[in-house]
Amino acid sequence: MQGVGFRPFVYRVATLYALTGFILNTSSGVLIEVQGSSSLLEKFCETLKRDAPPLARIEAIEESAIDSISEDAFIIGDSSAGTEVETLIPPDIALCSDCRRELLDPLNRRFRYPFINCTNCGPRYTIVERLPYDRPFTSMHGFTMCDECAEEYHDPLDRRFHAQPNACPVCGPVLSLLDSSGNPCSVTDAAAVTSALLKQGRIVALKGVGGFHLSVDARNEEAVRRLRERKGREAKPFAVMMRDMAVVRDCCELSDAECAALSSPEAPIVLLKKKTHDGLSPSVAPLHDRLGVMLPYAPLHILLFDNGIDVLVMTSANFSEEPIVNENDEALLWLKGIADAFLMHNRPIHLKCDDSVTIHLSRSLRQIRRSRGYVPAPVYLKQDGPVVLGTGGELKNTFALLKGTHALISQHIGDMKNYEAYRHFEHAAAHLQHLFQATPELLVHDLHPGYMTTGWALKQQLPLLGVQHHHAHLASCLAENKVEGQAIGLILDGTGYGTEGTIWGGEVLIGDADGVHRFASFEPMPLPGGDAAVEQPWRAALGYLSRSFSTIPDLPFMKGRTVEPVIELLQKRVSLYETSSCGRLFDAVAALCGLQGVVTYEGEAAIQLMLAAGGIMGSSSFRYAIEEHSGRWIMNVSPVIRDVVAAVENGVSVADISRRFHRTLVCCFTDVIKKASQATGIKRVALSGGVFQNALLFEALVFELEEAGYRVLTHSLVPSNDGGLSLGQAVIGRSYLAGRYQGVY
Ligand code: ZN
Ligand code: ZN
Ligand code: FE
Repeated sequence: MQGVGFRPFVYRVATLYALTGFILNTSSGVLIEVQGSSSLLEKFCETLKRDAPPLARIEAIEESAIDSISEDAFIIGDSSAGTEVETLIPPDIALCSDCRRELLDPLNRRFRYPFINCTNCGPRYTIVERLPYDRPFTSMHGFTMCDECAEEYHDPLDRRFHAQPNACPVCGPVLSLLDSSGNPCSVTDAAAVTSALLKQGRIVALKGVGGFHLSVDARNEEAVRRLRERKGREAKPFAVMMRDMAVVRDCCELSDAECAALSSPEAPIVLLKKKTHDGLSPSVAPLHDRLGVMLPYAPLHILLFDNGIDVLVMTSANFSEEPIVNENDEALLWLKGIADAFLMHNRPIHLKCDDSVTIHLSRSLRQIRRSRGYVPAPVYLKQDGPVVLGTGGELKNTFALLKGTHALISQHIGDMKNYEAYRHFEHAAAHLQHLFQATPELLVHDLHPGYMTTGWALKQQLPLLGVQHHHAHLASCLAENKVEGQAIGLILDGTGYGTEGTIWGGEVLIGDADGVHRFASFEPMPLPGGDAAVEQPWRAALGYLSRSFSTIPDLPFMKGRTVEPVIELLQKRVSLYETSSCGRLFDAVAALCGLQGVVTYEGEAAIQLMLAAGGIMGSSSFRYAIEEHSGRWIMNVSPVIRDVVAAVENGVSVADISRRFHRTLVCCFTDVIKKASQATGIKRVALSGGVFQNALLFEALVFELEEAGYRVLTHSLVPSNDGGLSLGQAVIGRSYLAGRYQGVY
């Protein structure tokens, strides 16, 4: 990887042991030729392995002996011209401890300078315009280094050697503060004034590393509520940034692993369990048991935690599922009426990138949204192969470019139905292909003809392959676990286009990237009005009731809803879509319990149902049945629905219904997997799909399956939701090019 300080590090080590030779980037990796006594050479190799800079990942070291030559120095060679250089652009990296110390040192020339960085930290991916990764080709090209900065930049022994965004108050980017109408305010210390504004309860639009955040004091209920009103975001939780680990410990339960994730160079948002008395405004994450927390990762952030502020709401400045706003004019245009002030700077963001979101479950940190800090670092594949591009899904879109053994997965793009997201996709797709010098031999898209990604793929002049949604989920899980051979895939999500015109989403697929057999699925249920039932779970509930009862029972959730026209649709069998979706089952049960009848964001009803259980699994399950119908096993849902209805009618609490419902799913899935294993002899189970973001279900199921002796493959490097789809698609594409693809059979 370039720009991670590996070459200067090697230079320093070689110089330390008085060795001679050179270091060079080549197409196959880094080449080091080093000459000296064998004991010193040994020490050199040891140090390389032990002390490599935090961002340099050594995949393998190969050594061979050569004849000695006459030379008297160790040099950093220029990359040999003409050869194809593997330039892995690093991700954007959180402020390092050295720079942090300088930032807060009144005697340092970069004291309180919000753009301080070095070879170990600072923006990377978001500022690269084109190759090679060199300052003139980054968004820093407009800033000419002063003598002092240039000296650091050119000195191999300096910790800013070849730090492309190197800058200081004399020569680098500057902050500016603008009022709500976009007029510049004349202030000497914009960060200090902003911090004071935040303390007063103002909403500030902050330009950060990958885009703008909207920020407000998270302890000021009135201010947080005002932000919700202005942003038109009713319920979706806001992420927060906390001053330091001590504040995190005060507000949240924190394990060692979570602590490590928070303070990692990637600095993601980690979903942490809230403490009951966290002292935060209740409107930050209403009804949720977890809070999305991150630590300050840009120097600017550190400067804001002044005036007694210790927790700030930091929500991506965008409109629902549009990409994060990245440029100054855009921000002024879009955030007018929301922000009371704008804290901007003149270092352009070339490629927008949201904050990454992670959660620690069942012994691993798991990506929910893989973006800043991780992108574009590759996910390593077991197999080499041709260049293939997987275009991803519709919601939570990412795309994946396979090159050699690297899967280069884009940042979170968002909802592709959105024009802004679509443009972002086009820009990022072209950019990633340029950065990695890779032109795909094949484009892989979802089978859904209405997906924007399918439409985009059809417009390109390249060979195409359409693959089934849940097949891609399974292939993604196998790929990130570097597993070859077949697995039993339990794929649970909201919506995926099936092979026979129905909507899938509760599937047991057996196979691998080459192809899958649909071994089992949920009993299909009618969804009146299709998408309308996704936004309004009460409609889904009526659909599920209509198939579970001969006469639809009268239940409290129907009060105040115009149910008659929907029941008529169901009776006349007009605009019905059949679905085996697990997400819809959650929605229906949530609605039956009187929870979310209408959702404001994807998965809201299912999340409310999970939260109602309070983290506790039921000890007994509802009735369910697994029956064989024409060669496929069907997990019957109607007995579950009937039991849930009986429970509602008997006044059983929502908490108890939810706990028993979760237990029912764990039992049913374990049973069906046992059947699949008996039928095939496979002892490997892959779990994929957005439903596995349900912590209660996920952890319990992993536990049960492991107890039963299965090897359970799960997602950690890419999201289990549709953000991980593109990886699976691309891997299936390689199987297709190799002539092995069979699809769903
Ligand atoms: Zn640094
Ligand atoms: Zn300077
Ligand atoms: Fe999906």
